Amino acid sequence: MHRRQFNQHLQRSAIALALSPWMNAIAATAEKPRAWHINPFALGVASGRPRAESMVLWTRLLFSDEDRAAATETLRVQVEVFADAALKRRVQKAQALTNDARAHSVHVHLQNLQPSTDYWYRFRQGDALSSVGHTRTAPAPNADVQELRVALSSCQHYEQGQYIAHAEIAKQKLDFVLFMGDYIYESSNSQYAIRKHNGEEPKTLQQYRDRYEQYKRDPMLQAAHAAHPWVLMWDDHEVVNDYANDQDRQYTDPKQMLLRRAAAYQAYFEHQPLLLGPDVNTPANMRLYDQLSWGRLADVWTLDCRQYRSAQACRDPVRGGGRMVVQCDELNDPNRTMLGNAQERWLTEGLSQSKRQWKLVAQATQISSTSVPAPVGRSYWNDAWDGYPEARKRLLQTVVDAKLKNVVTLGGDVHCNVAANLRLEPNNPQSPTVASEFVTTSITSRGLGEKPSALIRESNADLLHYRSDERGYSLITVTPEDVRCDFRTTKFPAGSEASLKTQASYVVKSGKAGPQAV
Ligand code: FE
Ligand code: CA
Repeated sequence: MHRRQFNQHLQRSAIALALSPWMNAIAATAEKPRAWHINPFALGVASGRPRAESMVLWTRLLFSDEDRAAATETLRVQVEVFADAALKRRVQKAQALTNDARAHSVHVHLQNLQPSTDYWYRFRQGDALSSVGHTRTAPAPNADVQELRVALSSCQHYEQGQYIAHAEIAKQKLDFVLFMGDYIYESSNSQYAIRKHNGEEPKTLQQYRDRYEQYKRDPMLQAAHAAHPWVLMWDDHEVVNDYANDQDRQYTDPKQMLLRRAAAYQAYFEHQPLLLGPDVNTPANMRLYDQLSWGRLADVWTLDCRQYRSAQACRDPVRGGGRMVVQCDELNDPNRTMLGNAQERWLTEGLSQSKRQWKLVAQATQISSTSVPAPVGRSYWNDAWDGYPEARKRLLQTVVDAKLKNVVTLGGDVHCNVAANLRLEPNNPQSPTVASEFVTTSITSRGLGEKPSALIRESNADLLHYRSDERGYSLITVTPEDVRCDFRTTKFPAGSEASLKTQASYVVKSGKAGPQAV
């Protein structure tokens, strides 16, 4: 069996075993519990992909030198699920097999859970126990839900700060964490480093695994994963800065680039609570875009803005990727795409048919314009939706055509808190506001300086709020009446004494597009 097939086989058997009666599976393999020198659950636990009846649980085993021999084996990992924090009322037991082809990661697809219900879980291998995780299922599809609370977050460069925001997220009462990308960074910038990445810029599977290991060892990040389920989307830095489909900034041969992307996607899957990893036959492909419902209150889409997009318009022929472009006719090419045709069709259909009160469109970057005046015309940042204006128009035209009232987009990537009006024609007061946008600042990654920020703010009437000077996350509270966004921030995310305050709050009222300051 090829390693890839074996990997897929393990993925399936983990799911099959999770479904099979616990006692039968144990009886078939009477094994002596392994005695660990060092607890192998050093990366903590996580849950994700919340549904009314199911949840994905995750962990990964790490091996100290004393336990190195175990790393060559296929290991059986058990998980127990409880209805109480004291772990007295056990409701499920499941197990999964894992080995080095999947970096000893464990993904268990729990099923037959109750909707809107809290669960606690813990993994076991031999005599070692993991920390305890808490999770909560989604409401039933037709439930009358009065509230949805989400921590919108993105961009956690390890070197540029401590995960103070995650420490607060861990303590919040939330339904889930919505992480919109730049979970790891492949690159360094020594100018801003308060701690250092281990190793070189990752390019191979092993190097990406090592990078995730370093991030996942952070106790504040582990706490946020252990406290809530996560709904995840990636952006560029999970592979390489500013990549677009099979293109990188160096114009690397696309074949080479796709090998790197396959390694990065595999490592991403191995470190997140996801149901499915890379495609078996084309491992550079992995479907991550998804949709979930929160009772009758909300539909939530998570959009992949990297894997299928056209290359940035009017790239510099030497150093590609993102830059400010002027007089760039390529921007107006209707064939250029941000989502790829399949994802765009899927979104258009889903959005048009949605009957739920709120339609939350989560995607990795910024939809509203940040263009600035240039000597001739205007200058556009070609890596965000400003670089894909025809795709943006199609997205917003769908909102108009389906007469959708309550569309709120949620984004990340730009290291900036944004509240904005979305119009078919950006910044044109004659063009009605058809949707509302909130973009969260970064957990740690540096933002734009104040001068360019101020210029962008002054040059775009649709930007009601635009601040890149603080780090944090955004607390999104959805009720039948409104969607509220509290930007929770700190000047500088270092030192355990740092704490967050509310930089600003906005609401979108049901039936009235456009955020309003609170
Ligand atoms: Fe980022
Ligand atoms: Ca990014």
